[in-house]
Amino acid sequence: MNNAYFYYPEPKNETVLNYAPNSAERAALKEAIAQLKIKQIDIPMYIGAEKVFTNHKIQIHPPHETSHVLGCFNMGEEQHVHDAIKAALAARSQWAALSWEHRAGIFMRAAELLATKYRFKMNAATMLGQSKNAFQAEIDAACELIDFLRFNVHFLSKIYQEQPISPVGFNNRMEYRPLEGFVLAVTPFNFTAIGANLACAPAMCGNVIVWKPSDAQIYSAQVFMEIMQEAGLPDGVINVIYTDGPKTGEICFAHPDFSGIHFTGSTGVFQQMWNAIGTNIHKYKTYPRIVGETGGKDFVLAHKSALPDAVTANLIRGAFEYQGQKCSAASRAYLPSNLAPEILASLVAQTKDLKMGVVDDFTNFVNAVINERSFDKIAAYLDRAIQSKEAEIIVGGNYNKEKGWFIEPTVILTTNPFYETMCEELFGPVLTIYVYPENDFEAILHTVDTTSAYALTGAIFSQDRYALEMATNKLVNSAGNFYINDKPTGAVVGQQPFGGARASGTNDKAGSMLNMLRWLSPRTIKETFVPVTNYQYPFHQAD
Ligand code: NAD
Repeated sequence: MNNAYFYYPEPKNETVLNYAPNSAERAALKEAIAQLKIKQIDIPMYIGAEKVFTNHKIQIHPPHETSHVLGCFNMGEEQHVHDAIKAALAARSQWAALSWEHRAGIFMRAAELLATKYRFKMNAATMLGQSKNAFQAEIDAACELIDFLRFNVHFLSKIYQEQPISPVGFNNRMEYRPLEGFVLAVTPFNFTAIGANLACAPAMCGNVIVWKPSDAQIYSAQVFMEIMQEAGLPDGVINVIYTDGPKTGEICFAHPDFSGIHFTGSTGVFQQMWNAIGTNIHKYKTYPRIVGETGGKDFVLAHKSALPDAVTANLIRGAFEYQGQKCSAASRAYLPSNLAPEILASLVAQTKDLKMGVVDDFTNFVNAVINERSFDKIAAYLDRAIQSKEAEIIVGGNYNKEKGWFIEPTVILTTNPFYETMCEELFGPVLTIYVYPENDFEAILHTVDTTSAYALTGAIFSQDRYALEMATNKLVNSAGNFYINDKPTGAVVGQQPFGGARASGTNDKAGSMLNMLRWLSPRTIKETFVPVTNYQYPFHQAD
């Protein structure tokens, strides 16, 4: 019973640990990596109160050390999708009725457990399973996920307080109900935080979830489920299945109780999902919410007034951190002819210095790409660039799959601003550069805006305020996250709400109040204290 308004203050972003030599966190993380590497785990699906093991075991290998076995996950079949939906619906009424402070308590406790007891295990699992270096794992699997959990509790509390006006004699109020049915969360490999958040944000609102993580993120998703169980999440609220993506979609989208999809992944998959939902629309008890954040072809544009060193440093971080496998990664850049020689020379020299290798060696800046499919796709682009008359690889370009899926950080220089690697998402450590005449700034803004179907992130570098204003205006629809004199990656929860438009998604800004609103279905209640007893209005009286 609610007999007070509870207060969840705005949290502070979780402090990023730096893992410098001799720090306590570096030693703890190395120990956690060693602990995970000496054992093999058998990862179950979580359906209702059951941990489900099957006869179909799929091995998990670090992408940078494919000879090592971290364990396996239990692949599910169609029946497991049906079972997960059933378990979710069975948990719904009790979970939806649980008062907010007790729901909030579970997610706040999970954030605390992750920030303390589980921090290094979670980072180590993300490093080994997804090939992230220590810093990339810390900002994702620890800090961003802790922030998602704490900030969403705060945002949802604010939404609950939002109430309509009530004139004298009446009381108007809004209840923020969860959706009627179950929400499907389908999540990508590249961020541990995104996987967990896509399941948790709707769950926090009182919804029940079927969560299908990417096969390549199951190793860290398992640590998150361990945390959620210790935090006291009731059985059936988040059901985790490792099933075929298209089959999972087919079954969920045909179910009358399907009430929403929370997706992050590629544009093509999201468009197939939207199609299937449209085809099945007559089957549903309620119109489903469709929330999807998808691909990007993120740009960096330097004006002739830019600081060359700032452009170079941010291109390297923006394009090559996590091997360019961030949806926000800088993958096309436009340099003015006056600065291009200096920037290209230092970009080539610094890129050559980037160390590539296993995550256990903390001096490596670059690790492996996620799997063979991704490796082969990127290698094919590099092979075509070697053959092309319009493109020249000025640094990198080599790849090797002997020990892991290693692709050298690569810069392609092109004479065609519409060359394929200027337009298509590669999802790897490949940056393509086009040099434009320094005085054609307005024309290049048009090129930047019209080159790709995506509109996720983009950055402008300039010391000239008129140029900055022109770029900000002309590129108004080119990116959902726009950066001035900074790289286009590294959005922080609460600081830069994240998401793009056009082919990049529905732009519902994960980790913000806007996203939480999508998982709620408000009910308005009007109460009249003294009801009328005569149907006639005063104007009905005779003069
Ligand atoms: P992906 O689309 O291959 O897979 C995402 C999820 O969808 C996985 O769980 C996968 O198993 C599932 N899936 C695949 N085909 C399916 C189908 N037909 N029906 C239902 N589910 C299906 O993406 P990925 O390779 O894991 O992640 C990389 C992509 O995600 C990139 O395009 C990247 O830009 C995008 N991404 C976007 C954001 C953002 O916020 N905009 C953030 C991270 C990643």
